[in-house]
Amino acid sequence: MSELPYSYDAPVSQALFDRASVVTPGGVNSPVRAFRAVGGTPRFMVSGTGPYLTDADGREYVDLVCSWGPMILGHSHPEVIAAVQEAVSKGTSFGTPGEGEVALAEEIVSRVEPVDQVRLVSSGTEATMSAIRLARGFTRRTKVIKFAGCYHGHVDSLLAAAGSGVATFALPDTPGVTGAQAGDTIVLPYNDLEAVHEAFHRHPGEIACLITEASPGNMGVVPPLPGFNQGLKDACAQNGALYVSDEVMTGFRTSKSGWYGIDGVRPDLMTFGKVMGGGFPAAAFGGRADVMAHLAPAGPVYQAGTLSGNPVATAAGLAQLRLLDDAAYDRIDAVSEQIRSLVAEALGKEGVAHTIQNASNMFSVFFTDRPVRTYEDARAQESFRFTAFFHSLLENGVYLPPSSFESWFVSTAHDEQAVQRIADALPAAARAAAEATAA
Ligand SMILES: *Cc1c(COP(=O)(O)O)cnc(C)c1O
Repeated sequence: MSELPYSYDAPVSQALFDRASVVTPGGVNSPVRAFRAVGGTPRFMVSGTGPYLTDADGREYVDLVCSWGPMILGHSHPEVIAAVQEAVSKGTSFGTPGEGEVALAEEIVSRVEPVDQVRLVSSGTEATMSAIRLARGFTRRTKVIKFAGCYHGHVDSLLAAAGSGVATFALPDTPGVTGAQAGDTIVLPYNDLEAVHEAFHRHPGEIACLITEASPGNMGVVPPLPGFNQGLKDACAQNGALYVSDEVMTGFRTSKSGWYGIDGVRPDLMTFGKVMGGGFPAAAFGGRADVMAHLAPAGPVYQAGTLSGNPVATAAGLAQLRLLDDAAYDRIDAVSEQIRSLVAEALGKEGVAHTIQNASNMFSVFFTDRPVRTYEDARAQESFRFTAFFHSLLENGVYLPPSSFESWFVSTAHDEQAVQRIADALPAAARAAAEATAA
C-alpha cells in the first residue's frame, strides 16, 4: 500500500496481511482491524506488556486500544496470567458446571445491584442476542427499539439501522439480514426522548424492549444527556417494555459497577463483556430475577453454549475483576484525564477544531468544535484530520483505534513513562491534523 501518503515501512506486518488476505476475507477476523477507515498496513501484534504492544516488525507502541477495552490492567498482568496458568494446568473445558463460573457470577451480582441473576456466555454479541430473546419471551412482544450509532454486536436484528426516525420500511441495512428481522427493529436518534415517546405511542403493546448502550462508545464517546437514561427507563416502565442496558463496553470499566455505578438508573436486563473476560471470550447477561427465571432450564426461553463459563476464561475474568478496586479506578480515571488534556493542548496549539468527550475514563476526540450528541453529529466531524493524526501517532509509537468513531482506552499500567511517550508524539500529530486536507 505504498501509494498511501501515511504508510511507512512495516514489511513483516504487510507480508502477514498479504498471507491473511488469501485465507480470510479482507485479511482480518473483525472488520475494523483492517485499517480500511485510515488506510495503510494493519499492524500484526506479537506481544503485549503493561501499556505497550510490540508488532511483528519489532516496533513498540503505547496501546490506547487495550483490545477495545478488556485489558484494563494492561497486557500480561502477572496476577491474571498466574490465574490463567493455574486454571489451564487443570484442564481447559469440561462441559459441566464448575466453581469458577459461580464465583464470577457472584462477583458480578455483588458489584451491580440490579443484577439478581446472571448467565455467562462467550461474547457480547451472544449476550445482547440472548437478552433480546429473553425480553421477547418474557413480554410476548416482538419489536425492539435501538439507537442509531449504538452497537450491540452483530446480532441480525440489531444491525438494522433504518435511518433517522421510526423504521417503517423493513429494509435490511446489511445483506443477509432479513426484512422481517429489520422490520422488528425501530431505530431512533440518540439522546432524543421525544422520538422514544412517539415510537411507544405508534406501537402500543408491541415493543418488547429498548436496548441502549449505557453510555455509548461505538460512535465515539457520546454520553447520555442528563436524565436521558432515566427517561428511557420510565418510558419502558409505562409501556410494559423491558429496559436493556448494554454495558459490554462500560461494565466494570467506567466504575466498579460500570455506568450503573454512575447514573444509578436501574435496568431490567443488562449485558456485559470485554473487561469481565480478562482478555478471554467471556460475557454475560443478567438482571431481574423474575425475568431471568424465564431462561432454560428454569423457564421456556432457550439459551445455551458449549464453552459458556469456560474455566480458563472465568479464571481470567475473576482475577481481573478482583484487582479492580477503587484505587485502580482512581488511577485509570486520572491517567485518562491527563491524556485528554495533553491532546487538547496539542490540538489547541495548532488551532485544530476538536471536541473531546468522555464517559469517566472512556474518551474520544472528535474533529469538530461542536458537541456530539447523536450519530449524525459524530459523522459531521472532519474525519480526514483523524486519519492524519492517527498515522502520525502510529509512526511515533502510539497505537490509537483505527477509526474516529471509537473510544480510546487506558489501563492501570499506563504510567508516567507511557504518558510521556504520548506527550512527545502529540505535537507532530496535531500538526499533521492541522495540515490535512479532505481527500
Ligand atoms: C463490543 C460490544 C458488543 C459486542 O461484543 P463482542 O464480544 O464483540 O461480540 C456489544 N455491545 C457493546 C456496547 C460493545 O461495545
